[in-house]
Amino acid sequence: MGEARIIDGKGFAATLRGRVGESVAALKAGHGLTPGLAVVLVGEDPASQVYVHSKGKQTQEAGMASFEHRLEATTSQEALLRLVGELNADPAVHGILVQLPLPAQIEPAAVLSAIDPAKDVDGFHVINAGRLATGQKALVPCTPLGCLLLLRDTLGDLGGLEAVVVGRSNIVGKPMAQLLLGESCTVTIAHSRTRDLPAVCRRADILVAAVGRPEMVRGDWIRPGATVIDVGINRVPGEGGKTRLVGDVAFAEARAVAGAITPVPGGVGPMTIACLLANTLTAACRSAGLPEPKLL
Ligand code: NDP
Repeated sequence: MGEARIIDGKGFAATLRGRVGESVAALKAGHGLTPGLAVVLVGEDPASQVYVHSKGKQTQEAGMASFEHRLEATTSQEALLRLVGELNADPAVHGILVQLPLPAQIEPAAVLSAIDPAKDVDGFHVINAGRLATGQKALVPCTPLGCLLLLRDTLGDLGGLEAVVVGRSNIVGKPMAQLLLGESCTVTIAHSRTRDLPAVCRRADILVAAVGRPEMVRGDWIRPGATVIDVGINRVPGEGGKTRLVGDVAFAEARAVAGAITPVPGGVGPMTIACLLANTLTAACRSAGLPEPKLL
């Protein structure tokens, strides 16, 4: 078996952002509609600041309106809910994203459920989770949506394939499993209580790792020729006192066995913001009763 094909998420995300940009330009020219995304950051978590900055920048580059709200770490839940209420009512805002994690005094579920499901571009509202689970039109969480687009691009029709998703978070694992089920895969969801995880993983034609444990998935867990999607982003000590990013999959080992694999960085990561832009565009089109652009 030769080396796996590297799935170029970075390149794919750039193409997707370009397509979103073209659709935004057409919406503006044809309907006078500018999709708008509001991003709310509470506190000064350094990683969140980086994410919020890139989200704002890429939103503007796609020709959309970007509204950034940076609130003090001491902001009360009531004040945050008030802001969410204002954004729900603002017709220039089609997508609302409240950056997680939130400070301890704020209950994330209370905030997420206050967002208008039609503007919930993160897809975390229970209404959107329920719609996804029941096969209705939903706004789908960005990271698993990005994974699905990469899988479709790599494999075409996914029907009948064995898919194993390691991780069952509401943000990645569960919606990923729902999406794969929607594509008619036979889906297994594994987690920390799964017995003989390596054997479960070896069944997979499609293996998605969303665990948050550096290089946990070893080469001999992978079925030869399988497609491996590594969602993990883990910072580990590197050379010269610096840190480096690794995924949840031991890349070099896995590459020798898999048919195709996403790298970390440059795989799933860049797809997340590209899908956020796509979701904002979708939300704007739906709000205006316009047909949704086909992005793939
Ligand atoms: P969570 O911590 O919410 O969930 C981790 C899941 O992994 C849980 O379901 C947990 O099981 C399972 N797990 C933990 N240890 C093991 C183990 N030893 N064996 C099997 N399963 C295990 O993480 P997220 O889903 O939010 O994120 C997962 C990874 O993806 C992280 O590295 C994160 O940084 C990354 N990520 C990347 C994004 C991107 O844009 N590329 C976006 C979001 C996340 P249990 O439920 O039983 O505890």
